[in-house]
Amino acid sequence: MKPPEPDPAFEVSLRPPMFTEFTGQVKVCERLELLVEAAKKRGDVLEHILLSGPPGLGKTTLANIIANAMGVNVKNTSGPVIEKAGELAGLLTSLEKGDVLFIDEIHRLQPTIEEYLYPAMEDYRLDIIIDQGPQARSLRLQLPKFTLIGATTRSGMVSAPLRSRFGMSARLDYYNAEEMHKIIMRSAGLLGVPIDTGGATEIAARTRGTPRTANNLLRWVRDYVQVKADGKITADLADRALTMLEIDRDGFDQWDKRILETLIHKFNGGPVGLSSLAVAIGEEAGTLEEVNEPYLIMEGYIKRTAQGRVALPNAYRKLGLKPPVGPQSELFGS
Ligand code: ADP
Repeated sequence: MKPPEPDPAFEVSLRPPMFTEFTGQVKVCERLELLVEAAKKRGDVLEHILLSGPPGLGKTTLANIIANAMGVNVKNTSGPVIEKAGELAGLLTSLEKGDVLFIDEIHRLQPTIEEYLYPAMEDYRLDIIIDQGPQARSLRLQLPKFTLIGATTRSGMVSAPLRSRFGMSARLDYYNAEEMHKIIMRSAGLLGVPIDTGGATEIAARTRGTPRTANNLLRWVRDYVQVKADGKITADLADRALTMLEIDRDGFDQWDKRILETLIHKFNGGPVGLSSLAVAIGEEAGTLEEVNEPYLIMEGYIKRTAQGRVALPNAYRKLGLKPPVGPQSELFGS
C-alpha cells in the first residue's frame, strides 16, 4: 500500500501562517525574521531569498510566512510552468511594490527564462523581444521593486549566475523527533482530532523528519481510529494504522525497502549508477535522488560515491543481513 498522497487543501489548512507558529529550523527563521525586521524598519523591499532542502520541509510555508510578515501579497508559480518570456512578464508586471513572487522548483527554469530574470532581479527591468524577423524590437518594461523567493530541492542545480542574485540562501534540514511531535500535536489540534502524547510520538517516529509526511500520516491515522476505534489516537492505534500502510518504525515504506533490496541483491551492494538503480526499481531517477535518497543518506543506509550508490552496513542490518567483510567493505569508508 502506498502512503496517502498529499491533499493540497488539507496542506494549506495546516500551514503555519507566522513565524511563531512555525516549529523548528530555528537558525533559518531567526535570520529570516531579522531580514524582515530590517527591511520593514528601512521601509524597503525585502531582498531575494533562495530556500533549499528536500520536499515537504516547509519552503512554501516559509515563503508565505515571509510575505505575511512583510504585509505583502504573494504570487505562486513553479519553474517548469513558465514556458515563455511573456508568461514571466505577465507575472512580474502583475506584482505591486514589495510583493513576493514565489518560484518553486526554481532549478527547473528554462535557461532562456532565467536570463530574463537576471535584470528583473537586479534592476527591476525586463527587456523582452516582440515580433520576429525585421520587425523584431526590444521592449523595456520597468517593474515594481519586488522580492523573489525561490525554492529548490536541488540547490546544486541552481546556476551560479542565478544563485548570486539572491541576497540570502537558506537550507532547511529534516526535523528532529521533538519538533515532529510538536507539529503533529498542532496539526491534530487544528483538525480537532483527539490524540495523546504516545500517539504523537508513534507517528513522529515514522515521519522521516518531514512535516508533510507527518500531516499525511496523521490524516491516515485519524481515519483509521474513526473507523476502527473511538476516534482518539493512542500509541497502539497509531502503530496499527501505520503498520497497515506498511510503514515501519524507521519510517521506511516499501519504496525505501525496495531501494535497499535492489542495491544489495541485484547490484551486490553497489557501487551502481543512479539511473541503473532507478530502472531496476521502476522509479524515476529524479524522484529517487530528490525524495528517497536524502533521508537514506542522512541516516547512513547508503552513500553516494563517484562510482555510484553504495549500500552501507546499516542497509544490510535493516534487511536482516550481515554486512559483508573483505573487499566490498572497503567501499564503506569515506
Ligand atoms: P515544501 O515547500 O518544502 O515542499 P511545504 O511548505 O509545502 O513544503 O510544507 C508541507 C506541509 O508541511 C505544509 O502543509 C505545512 O502544513 C507543513 N509544515 C511544513 N513545515 C512546518 C513547520 N515547521 N511547522 C508546522 N507545519 C509545517
